[in-house]
Amino acid sequence: MKVPFIDLQQRYQEEKSELLACVDNVLSKGHLILTQEVNEFEEQAAKYIDVKHVIGLNSGTDALMMALWAYGIGKGDEVITTPVSFVATTGAIVHVGATPVYVDVCDDQNIDVSKIEAAITPRTKAIMPVHWSGRIANMDVIMAIAKKHNLIVIEDAAQSMGAYYRGKHGGSFGDAAAYSAHPLKNLNALGDAGFMSTNDDEVNRKVRLYRTHGLESRDNCVLYGVNSRLDSLNAEVLKFRLERLKAIVDRRRHNVELYKSIIKQESIFIPPEKPEEHNSYVMFITQADQRDKLKDYLQSHDIESLVYYGTPLHLHKAAARFGLKKGDLPVAEAQCEKVLALPHHQNLTDDQITYVAEKVNAFYGV
Ligand SMILES: *Cc1c(COP(=O)(O)O)cnc(C)c1O
Repeated sequence: MKVPFIDLQQRYQEEKSELLACVDNVLSKGHLILTQEVNEFEEQAAKYIDVKHVIGLNSGTDALMMALWAYGIGKGDEVITTPVSFVATTGAIVHVGATPVYVDVCDDQNIDVSKIEAAITPRTKAIMPVHWSGRIANMDVIMAIAKKHNLIVIEDAAQSMGAYYRGKHGGSFGDAAAYSAHPLKNLNALGDAGFMSTNDDEVNRKVRLYRTHGLESRDNCVLYGVNSRLDSLNAEVLKFRLERLKAIVDRRRHNVELYKSIIKQESIFIPPEKPEEHNSYVMFITQADQRDKLKDYLQSHDIESLVYYGTPLHLHKAAARFGLKKGDLPVAEAQCEKVLALPHHQNLTDDQITYVAEKVNAFYGV
């Protein structure tokens, strides 16, 4: 049996007629930039997340950067964040001229909120938690700390579409949040795309200007922005896929439950879902002893798995300037040796999941 990590070709076959209808609908109108389709997606996404504003952008990375930018965070400022994320989280902080300050993570790979206050200095302006793999960070504590120390909270919600914490959607807790619609996320476009959410009218106004060169109208530039607009074609596809998001998340959650019911967790750790969480499982990341050997063993049985990620953010070559070394963030570093994402996407069958889970048990001889 073959088990691919992701199967976008199969997904295309399933959605072909709807996707081609989206293309036809947009192209036949002859307008491709900042059209009604973008407004409609923004309204529907804002309703889904339960926030006042959603702004369609080119990518999740741009959304992170523009949120920092809109809050005036830049040179000399520090942003508290986590070493367990995609590099874009740190990249966005660096690009506005600020410095990331890393706080180690918990067993579940999200920021360890008990260590945040010790990292606050007079230069700290914001906290940027990451809802890693679609599990919302402890937002109760993060928001309380932010309130006490007067800090901005920008959620890296790139993986949180369809994820909830105490019934509230990821991205609806902080001052602003960034989402990605990259092909590997649960709500995905036909290529790169992203969006930002906020309840702040002024931040909404600014980001709408940033994304289109600061142009208030064709001949009136009020500030210098960039080109980071969500394409109308992708907006139309995202509108269609937003309607299917719940079913996709439900299926992924079912797959994870099936894994948990079969895998014997002696040599492999699966962070439990806490009662307050409703995880979207963009990735299903386990922490496995002899990770590399397990990965090879699974590959030898036609099962694709992926290491997300083998290097914590503070130990990348580009991070040398922050002066951190191995041993500074021990929990994140130890996890990087163990993390292995198993295939769990919505196009897999129960038989395929069972096959993978049994092979994991077989590898450990349990
Ligand atoms: C995907 C991702 C990003 C970047 O989003 P893009 O749309 O690819 O720019 C940022 N942070 C996290 C946690 C992500 O998973």
